[in-house]
Amino acid sequence: MNLQHYFANLGSEFSSKTQIQPLHQQRLVEFNPSLATFLSIDIKSPPTKRLLSGEDLVPSSLSMVYAGHQFGGFSAQLGDGRGVLLGEVRGQDGLLYDLHMKGAGPTPYSRRGDGRAVLRSCIREYLASEAMHALSVPSSRALALYDSREAVYRETPEAGAMLLRTAQGHIRFGHFEYFFYQGKQAELDQLIDYCLEHYYPDCLHTESPLESMLMEVVKRTARMIAKWQSVGFQHGVMNTDNFSFSGETIDYGPYGFMEDYEPNWVCNHSDHEGRYAFSRQPGVGLWNLNCLMRCFSKHLERDQLIAILQCYEPELQTHYDALMMKKMGLNSVQQVDELLPSLLTLLATEKMDYSVFFRLLSHFEQGDFALLLDEVVDREALSTWLERYERVRIENELAWSQISAAMLAVNPKFILRNYLAHDAILAAERGDYLPFRRLLNVLTHPFDEHPESDLLAQRAPEWGKSLEVSCSS
Ligand code: AMP
Ligand code: MG
Ligand code: MG
Repeated sequence: MNLQHYFANLGSEFSSKTQIQPLHQQRLVEFNPSLATFLSIDIKSPPTKRLLSGEDLVPSSLSMVYAGHQFGGFSAQLGDGRGVLLGEVRGQDGLLYDLHMKGAGPTPYSRRGDGRAVLRSCIREYLASEAMHALSVPSSRALALYDSREAVYRETPEAGAMLLRTAQGHIRFGHFEYFFYQGKQAELDQLIDYCLEHYYPDCLHTESPLESMLMEVVKRTARMIAKWQSVGFQHGVMNTDNFSFSGETIDYGPYGFMEDYEPNWVCNHSDHEGRYAFSRQPGVGLWNLNCLMRCFSKHLERDQLIAILQCYEPELQTHYDALMMKKMGLNSVQQVDELLPSLLTLLATEKMDYSVFFRLLSHFEQGDFALLLDEVVDREALSTWLERYERVRIENELAWSQISAAMLAVNPKFILRNYLAHDAILAAERGDYLPFRRLLNVLTHPFDEHPESDLLAQRAPEWGKSLEVSCSS
């Protein structure tokens, strides 16, 4: 493994040296072979195994310092309270990837926290991040899971665990806010140069590298959120310290995947005001980017920053329309405009399962008209919509033989339902990782049929609808 320490070399203003502190009787229980191969990591070789798990010292490992707007209020100093960055490795795509351990023990930024993570939250993150990757949503990924015999106290004692994850970058909007609000101009410039060199090298050759880079960040963020909205993902804690400068989904806490379609759904039970409700995510993305742009107010004119921010909405809308067009098997945005708003209203009124609907729609040609109608109370309203949909499809010569396979390739049969994660967690807490592996297998190939795992495509039973998730993890 060729571990680099580029971020560590930025110096002590950016981080604190921190070692992984292994848990009591820690075991490597799961790892991601394809991701390991992609990163050229031989996870089974004893030296690599010891290094990654914290048994051997990595002298340059660190915890990062940053700031952030949390639920609208500014916290001037935050940081990795329970995360350790081991360093960076190069992927087969030539890009740099961070190796980052969650739950690695106390750091200088732990405040009153214990620096630990529970098995429950590590499993939730493992499943969600790999599911997102399989759905083509930019995301951090899970490389290895360690469990232990160490008790970690949340509302009750729970099993302690660690999750080794990768992402192109763990630099957050909050990193820039930290240096900007401290008035540390030299460090802010250093961070800009660092991001240009390592994450946005193409921008270096443009007339105004910083402007080009920020434009790219805005666009990546817009595309990421368009994808969240199209797959029905709700992040839960869209604070600026949880927003990556490389445009990836990071920091999986009380997230949720939409089951019954409810635009104002709030998955995080600690979010009492619904600040981060599903339908608000696009707006919050812009709010966060606005916070980010303020950090460059000494580098660029106000008009320039506004112009950059103005790219957000069209980029998000265009991308979202294109994704929804594919989900519906259509071939023009005009058709989306004609059909989507009324469909979403219908799904919301019926509280219909979002993924089940699109999967059934993809099977429409096999005469599943009836199956779709059986899903709703107001059969007439759905029939009317389906007739319009059929008309548009026929007018545009979209034959089923042509579009069904393409629709099945973008409308997953399997999504990460909360009750499924819950079952996998309960089993893992008893030492049985089979349900976790079975679930992971369908989530990483969500468009395949997996007839042996049909149960995992089913909607939540009554008990599974009222499970609560909050920030305590
Ligand atoms: P989050 O909502 O997950 O983004 O967490 C907000 C902040 O709290 C981050 O700076 C975390 O590093 C920190 N944090 C969360 N849980 C713990 C913990 N158990 N111990 C120490 N710090 C924590
Ligand atoms: Mg965080
Ligand atoms: Mg977190």
